[in-house]
Amino acid sequence: MQEIKLELTKHPKAKPQDETKLGFGSIFTDHMFVMNYDKGQGWHDPRIVPYGDIPLSPAAMCFHYGQAVFEGMKAYRTQDDRILLFRPEKNMARLNASNDRLCIPPVDEAFAVQAVEKLVSVEKDWIPHIDGASLYIRPFIIAVDPHLGVHPGHHFLFMILCCPVGAYYPEGLNPVRIYVEDQYVRAVRGGMGNTKAAGNYAASLKAQDEAEKQNYTQVLWLDGVERKYIEEVGTMNVFFVLDDEVVTPALQGSILPGITRMSAIELLQSWGMKVSERPISIQEIADASESGRLKEAFGTGTAAVISPIGELKWEDRRMCIHDGKIGPISQKLYDTLTGIQWGKLPDPMGWTVEVK
Ligand SMILES: *Cc1c(COP(=O)(O)O)cnc(C)c1O
Repeated sequence: MQEIKLELTKHPKAKPQDETKLGFGSIFTDHMFVMNYDKGQGWHDPRIVPYGDIPLSPAAMCFHYGQAVFEGMKAYRTQDDRILLFRPEKNMARLNASNDRLCIPPVDEAFAVQAVEKLVSVEKDWIPHIDGASLYIRPFIIAVDPHLGVHPGHHFLFMILCCPVGAYYPEGLNPVRIYVEDQYVRAVRGGMGNTKAAGNYAASLKAQDEAEKQNYTQVLWLDGVERKYIEEVGTMNVFFVLDDEVVTPALQGSILPGITRMSAIELLQSWGMKVSERPISIQEIADASESGRLKEAFGTGTAAVISPIGELKWEDRRMCIHDGKIGPISQKLYDTLTGIQWGKLPDPMGWTVEVK
């Protein structure tokens, strides 16, 4: 494996004083990881350098043709001051799946996990101490060739940034109100909805904007062909509890394969619950709501972990779920996942990786 060079900053920034006011994604740590790819040479020169702006040609291909992918993961500080990552090898496997779809050369997954570990270790003191706060980690890759013309790049940058982020639910888990989007779609089968490609998020902004104008937190996405089958909620995967069956849309090409989704399924199965990955129509959920079979609904993702859904609006129907309060399965998943991530519970699945 290549050696990661380390250049420490001569101007360390002051750490945030009030960890209750970190917010999300606007404070960056002192250092970042950078590695270059040049055709013929492969990935080379891995280094950790002071955080700062990077020079790019205005013709850099990522600006024009969107050849850009990213990941999102976190480092957690335990009460006994250990630092944990959660299934980081899954993020790097997914990064390579995204790379493959966008004609970006693959990275060595084990090496990429090492890069995260080394950067987190350098930035250890930036990892928040208060309950629920963590260090968000953003690996990403962009094509940087200064070239106008649509073809895969020959030159790339792989970078990793870190942000101390606050607790997602400073006031406890409040269920969100969701609006079913029946006009815009996020992705289609055969497209790149199953990758963390930057362009997917550009495609989602308009619907999100309109949902917020109508006082909803997020949108529930339907399939791009019939506007009939449920796909995801905002930038999270979605689950429903129908009597004693937990259902989530099957991964059929337009849905992002979430690591929290995968972990929730594995936990539910380990508790002996029935989990089905299958097509779920919005009509089925509306009928289940009507008949009282719809017990709970929640989103899953690294940022929020579990986000209970209290209300769903579809056309002129309003479905109130579990009285607008968090249900027992959502709560148990949240407590178990966050318990494992913050080292408060045993980790029988071996999901966490300690950073030394
Ligand atoms: C990142 C992401 C998720 C959640 O994935 P996790 O690995 O659980 O964080 C779900 N949907 C979309 C569209 C995403 O970008």
